[in-house]
Amino acid sequence: MESYEKLLDRAYSNLPKNSETGERFQMPKAQILNAGARTIIVNFTELANILRREPQHLQKFLLKELATSGELQGGRLIVQGRFRADVINKKIELYVKEYVLCPDCGKPDTKFVKEDRYLFLKCEACGSKHSLRKI
Ligand SMILES: [Zn+2]
Repeated sequence: MESYEKLLDRAYSNLPKNSETGERFQMPKAQILNAGARTIIVNFTELANILRREPQHLQKFLLKELATSGELQGGRLIVQGRFRADVINKKIELYVKEYVLCPDCGKPDTKFVKEDRYLFLKCEACGSKHSLRKI
């Protein structure tokens, strides 16, 4: 006969590991190329995909924050002006805090919901809903 402890051990080891739930959100990093008077964010569409946001929305935010213009070109964002990688990454962090992470539970499992003319951040993890500032 097996001991109670052994049975318990086996029961626990068969449980699915839910280590994800305690993990902190990994902030994605922009890969930057400086080309003359322009700055290229090489992995721009990839960043938007990780954040599950439209590249156009992230683009609008970044360009406004950097007070410049730019355009999407095959997955890259070409930004007018020279910007350091840490400056761009700081802006992406701001974007994530405002438009991706849930203010209540801090999870990134959120999506945009449009109601009338207003935009809300809806959290799929805890169900909370917050109105968002228009860019
Ligand atoms: Zn939440």
